[in-house]
Amino acid sequence: MFVAPIADLQLLLIEDDPMIGQGLVRALGDEGIRLDWQRDGTQGERAWQSGAHALVLLDLGLPDKSGLRILQNQRQSGNRTPVIILTARDEVDDRVQGLEFGADDYVVKPFGLAELMARLGAVLRRSGLVDNNRLTNGEIALNRETREVTYRDKLQSLPPREFELLHILLDNPGRIFSREQLENRLYQTRRDLSRHAIDVLIHSLRKKFDEEIVRNVRGVGWMVLKHPSS
Ligand code: CA
Repeated sequence: MFVAPIADLQLLLIEDDPMIGQGLVRALGDEGIRLDWQRDGTQGERAWQSGAHALVLLDLGLPDKSGLRILQNQRQSGNRTPVIILTARDEVDDRVQGLEFGADDYVVKPFGLAELMARLGAVLRRSGLVDNNRLTNGEIALNRETREVTYRDKLQSLPPREFELLHILLDNPGRIFSREQLENRLYQTRRDLSRHAIDVLIHSLRKKFDEEIVRNVRGVGWMVLKHPSS
């Protein structure tokens, strides 16, 4: 569901409802995301102040303190950690207040995991905590914006068409592209296209990286494998 860089982040959950807490610890854990779950406002606020978390999921109705109050305290003391508030359907005023106090977004309980993940991803991207321009696959990393490619942490310079080909494949790990699909994507006209153009590009990529990077699926096309960590 998520791109790789998010997996190194630790998030904070301040929530007293055990069902929600256990569910989120498990679900986010499945995505490789560590969740520090605090069950009351006092502990939660203390954990928040540690500054160890990339984002806070904040329940508003806590047993000892109001989530809104905690949010207000943190923002007033200059804490800018992104916050998504978890609100009940009837807490419309609190939701508005939460946004005014500096929450970045909210989800309404009961929420589905897909919705929470989408909002999490959006807030983290807006905060610059996940880099949407970076594609990784094993030891290869490609940045769409700077057009830099690194392999085993070394910068590789690629001619434009090799870069585009690698970009297409890394952007769709596990998907097989036929010769015709790749030709259509890489060449505007047939004029500058030789019969073996794609083979030449792939041969060159394999020489620069690893023979194994681009797989040939005989009679069908080429692909890169889905890497376990991407
Ligand atoms: Ca609650």
